[in-house]
Parts: sequence; C-alpha cells; structure tokens
Amino acid sequence: MDRPLRLTIDRTAIQENWRWLQDRAGVPAGAAVKADGYGLGAREAAHALYEAGCRDFFVSSWAEAEALGPMPLGTSVVVLHGAGPKDAEAALSLLARPCLNTPGQVARWKEVAPERPCDVMVDTGMNRLGLRPTEIGLLDGLAIETLHSHLARADEDSAMNGMQLERFRTVASAVPAKRYAFANSAGICLGREYSFDLVRPGLSVYGGVPRVEAEGNIRDVFRVDAEIVQRRLIPAGESCGYGATFIADEDTEAAILNIGYADGYLRGFSSRGSAFAGEFALPVLGRVSMDLIAVGCGAAPGLKEGDWVEIDYDLPSASKQSGLSQYELLTTLGSRFERRWV
Ligand SMILES: *Cc1c(COP(=O)(O)O)cnc(C)c1O
Repeated sequence: MDRPLRLTIDRTAIQENWRWLQDRAGVPAGAAVKADGYGLGAREAAHALYEAGCRDFFVSSWAEAEALGPMPLGTSVVVLHGAGPKDAEAALSLLARPCLNTPGQVARWKEVAPERPCDVMVDTGMNRLGLRPTEIGLLDGLAIETLHSHLARADEDSAMNGMQLERFRTVASAVPAKRYAFANSAGICLGREYSFDLVRPGLSVYGGVPRVEAEGNIRDVFRVDAEIVQRRLIPAGESCGYGATFIADEDTEAAILNIGYADGYLRGFSSRGSAFAGEFALPVLGRVSMDLIAVGCGAAPGLKEGDWVEIDYDLPSASKQSGLSQYELLTTLGSRFERRWV
C-alpha cells in the first residue's frame, strides 16, 4: 500500500557522522540506539553502524534490547536503565548486559549473576541515574566492563562540565573496570579530555548538531516528504484551519499536505514551519492539524494534487521554528511514514 508520507534515511550519512565522532573523540565510539534509533529505526541504524565499525550499542530497556534482535558476534548491547525487580529473566536470557544504576540494582545483580559482566553508571552531578560517588564501595566484587557517567550540560559552555570531569576522574581512579566512558555527542565536541576509553554518541549520529564544533561536520541523515492531498484557493478575507488563525489578506494559493501532529509534526510548527518545492519555500499557514497542514504555494504554480513536497525538517532550524529540541524532533517522528533506507 502506498503511503502519502515518506522518511528517507541515508545509511552512509549515519556511518559518516559516526566516523567523524569517533575520529574527533580519538577512542572507540559506541552508539545510542535507544528510542528505536532516535525514531529512525534501531535495527537498520545498528547494522549500518556495525558495518562502519561500531561495536557498542546502548538501549534504555530490555524490551528495546530484544527489539534490536540478534547482533553480530563481538558486539555488546548495554541496557542503560539497568536491571529492575522484574528484569532478572530478560537479563539472563538476552545477550545484553545491564548498566547498574542503584544500590538495589547492584545488590540484585550480585544475587542473580555475580560472575556475569555488567556496566555501572556513577552520577557526577546530574542527579538522574547512577550511584553517588560515596556509594562506590558497594561495587566490590562485580565484574565491571565499563564504568559510565553522563554530562548534564555538555551542549553549553558551563563550569559544570569541568566539575563533572574532575569528579569522574576521581571515581574512575577508585573503581576498577575494563573501560571508562563519559561523553555523549556534545561531550565529544568538548575535547578529548572527555573521551576516556569509549564514547556514547546518539544525537549527532542521526544528524543532530548540539554544539558549534559539530557544524559543517555532521551531515543531514534523513528527509521528510509529504504528498499534496488538495490544492485550493483561499479567497481574500477567509481563514484556513482550526481556530482560523490564518486569515488570507489576499487571494492565497494553498496546498494541503499529508502530515500532521500525529506524525510528530507538532503544533509548534503552526504558522512557522515550511516546506520546499524545488527552490521555493512554502510557509505553513495556520494551525497544524492531526493529519494535515496547509502551506502557501503561490510561488509554485505548477504544484498539483498528488505531487510531493519536502518538509523543512533540518534539525537545527526546525528546532528554532518549533521550539522543540532536536531530540524531540527525531524521537516524535510517527509510525505512519514509509521508511526508506537508501
Ligand atoms: C542517550 C544517552 C547518550 C547519547 O546522548 P546524545 O546526547 O544523544 O549524544 C549517551 N549516554 C547516555 C547515558 C544516554 O542516556
């Protein structure tokens, strides 16, 4: 069945972004493929990354580890949320390993699989997941593969980055592990002192640009195209869409497109987003509906029903238009797209 909405995803761009991140870090890079590969498709992304040389994959839950399917020999899949009270069976049957976050998770792992390798997250100031540095005594006796911490403000020039780095160095010197990992995409941009043995980029693998250092180095990974359902004239003085927030001050040609907030094109794009028809920018007119938007198409007289137009979904600029973060723009992409990997 033909779908009127398409996401075209470029494997080569994913691979090149990952290579740039690894080169910049100067150490092996893994990749976060949680949230279904940031909305693009975890399986396809993981296999493209494997081909490029990536061997460490990060998901948030055991369900995501299972959904990833079997990965080639020599890879590791780490479940970032660790092993909760109901996860023992999954943890023992899947080849993934947990990243333990809490004293309770550490105690459970010692009970369930003390000799099995695990990762551990230490909190160095974000106060999200992880053991406090004062709790690292609990780790005695575990077979720690990678000891992690995570940066709270790496996308900003903040003194907190250096403070977290110092804390992580102190913790790393006290906890034996095979490897130490600290940096996400933005952290890789901060400099090699943040690299340790392994980095964990996500956003920039998928085309996100969290800091100026990545500008011009990270390529767009996907494009969004939607089919025109109707072309119409909005007579001067009439409105368009829910709430009548657009009122035509002159006769206005509009194309009604097959995309809406149910596809992740959220209402922040109302009267702010745009589409492209060749070199013409077509502004969104009025409110985004569930399944549709209207764009002004007076500049493109040849556009007709059944034609396709590209939606401006360039992550940095779409983020400014919509008020959504680049992370939200990626992960809210809906399930109605035809996903084409090229
Ligand atoms: C999601 C996540 C990452 C990836 O971060 P990006 O900002 O997307 O590069 C790295 N580490 C942890 C612990 C994460 O949860």
